Amino acid sequence: MPALHDITHRLSTYAVELFLHLSYVQLSLFFEASLRLLPAITLKRPRTTTETPPLPEHVCDLLSVQVQVPTAAIKTLWKALGDLVLQAAPRDLVSGDTVDCVLSAAGAIHGLGAETLVSPTRVCLTPTCPDHGRALGGDQKSYQAHLYTRRRGVLPVSVLTLYCRGCKTTYRPNYSVTHASNPAAKREYHSGMPAALEVTEHSYVEAELAVLFRTQIAFAQTSADTVAQIYNLGLSSGPASHPLSAEAVLNTFWLYALLQDSMQRGESRCNTG
Ligand SMILES: [Zn+2]
Repeated sequence: MPALHDITHRLSTYAVELFLHLSYVQLSLFFEASLRLLPAITLKRPRTTTETPPLPEHVCDLLSVQVQVPTAAIKTLWKALGDLVLQAAPRDLVSGDTVDCVLSAAGAIHGLGAETLVSPTRVCLTPTCPDHGRALGGDQKSYQAHLYTRRRGVLPVSVLTLYCRGCKTTYRPNYSVTHASNPAAKREYHSGMPAALEVTEHSYVEAELAVLFRTQIAFAQTSADTVAQIYNLGLSSGPASHPLSAEAVLNTFWLYALLQDSMQRGESRCNTG
């Protein structure tokens, strides 16, 4: 990837207006998209020249949509940065996979992971609590778990729980529970479908993956064992020491169905024992 100094120098010299207004995301999109489209750009270049080729019109139009600037701005960007794009390599890009790898490898050492799962609310929601509406966070606890995803394999994640002393309620990523040590305590799920479902204490399954499990079980009449095996052999790229279990598949199936039913009924929150 080109040095930041080279990029800023080119922009401040050849594309002053864009240098002042272009966001980091737009610049990143320009690099990533144009690098992927490089064959369509370079194949138009005469084989006898090594100069930076002009952007073909259809590539320019597509980049304009992606980066959300006019085509004239894309042409200016290409004029300023085109040769840097030609020198870059796909491995230079910071993809989601790269971030997953870095955080998965080093996150656990720092008590973190590829993702941090936490309750969507940062204030106590219990209406009768003396601290109702006040910020949670004084009593945080975290532990390591695994997130099973459809496209990113198995990721080590950090689970953060928040606690309200006023009503003794623990807020977890999916639900809250008051007096958790009481055997009769009930989980009160947060409204909406969570992005990751807690299916065992240390296992979370991405909602997108839950839909795949549901489809396999409903249409192929596949057992939970088989669904877990298919995932572990075909979709999981994570450590073999954390294979998906049949129990987790079944829990995913039922929890997703329960939450979806609750949402379809228009219930704001779902309670379970
Ligand atoms: Zn409270």
